[in-house]
Amino acid sequence: MSKLTRHVLDQSGSGVTMSVTEMCFGSGSTVVYCQAALHADECPPLLVARQLCQQLAVLEAQNRLHAEFRVVTQANPIGGQQWVRQHHVGRVELGTGQNFNRDFPNVAAFVVEEIQHRLTVDPVTNRAIARELWHEALAGLIPEHPVMALQRTLLQRAVDADWVFDLHSDDEAECHLYATPGDMAVALSLGGRLGATAVLVEADTGAQSFDDTLMQCWATLDAAFPNRGFQSPLTAMTVELRGTRDVSVALAQSDCEALLGLWSEHGLVTYDSGQLLTEPVAYPLRGMDVLTTPYCGLLVWRRSLGDLVTAGDLLAEIIEPDQPERDPRQIRARSEGRLIARRGHPWVRAGDVVCKVAGSKPLSWRFGNLIGGRQ
Ligand SMILES: [Zn+2]
Repeated sequence: MSKLTRHVLDQSGSGVTMSVTEMCFGSGSTVVYCQAALHADECPPLLVARQLCQQLAVLEAQNRLHAEFRVVTQANPIGGQQWVRQHHVGRVELGTGQNFNRDFPNVAAFVVEEIQHRLTVDPVTNRAIARELWHEALAGLIPEHPVMALQRTLLQRAVDADWVFDLHSDDEAECHLYATPGDMAVALSLGGRLGATAVLVEADTGAQSFDDTLMQCWATLDAAFPNRGFQSPLTAMTVELRGTRDVSVALAQSDCEALLGLWSEHGLVTYDSGQLLTEPVAYPLRGMDVLTTPYCGLLVWRRSLGDLVTAGDLLAEIIEPDQPERDPRQIRARSEGRLIARRGHPWVRAGDVVCKVAGSKPLSWRFGNLIGGRQ
């Protein structure tokens, strides 16, 4: 039977109660975790999660689920209710400016320290002990602010997972995904089902995003204790469901079919696995240029999403209304690749991310935090 749970957040504020809403379906030792709109203004995942719950309920009634499915239908109630003068702000917490999908608490050091005396020869037992300690560490964290309380709650629901799908969207974008090298084949398969064009691949983005943090904890354990069952117990990826305004029943239904198709391919559900819509290309995340504007003004595009560009190509112009006699400023590609995401709002200030160009060659200026702009 499906089950609805509201995970109440600590630190919501005096007189305020906020909760993360989750639906669970099926049962079994394998856990599939899916969350919608950690960046609360990225709306397409909210409709996909709703459709997914409806489909999972039907499949459960037909005994066609072979795992436990956890669908967090609203991952970020804090960002969901932030408004400034009638403009929704869902990407960062207004009180601190913290991006909701950065700097998740990583408790790997605690797990490594505590597990060393309890390791067995059985990988399954070792993973169970690791998860138990991981839960213990998260339960012991004292959230210092509301974002940390939210992040802890989401991690607590995902620690048990064998599969994690973090559903986001970019500003204006083609469908694309972020994954580690070990999960690239799965991401390409899901991407093809979604109609994606690109999979951005990197072992560690340096951003401590949600899926990063989960993957890094397992990677830290595997590095400390090789061959003890900690190599790739989790398949995780971030899925960018096009642009924030690409909300439609038809798209959500298609995206839902894509997820179910992938899960069917891996024996998690019994379902018609469907067709591949595209053949996405895998690019190194270090090969994705994230272009910013050094100018303030009106952003006018000269290239479209999906265009293949080379270094030097004119991508956009910035019109400076206070310089009516000057030629427009130019934003040119710095590398060869595919234009996969663009800024949607046409008024920009210096420093704003304006687009992403995914290319096959790692770029020398891409280091440190490799995720820029939306993700
Ligand atoms: Zn996002």
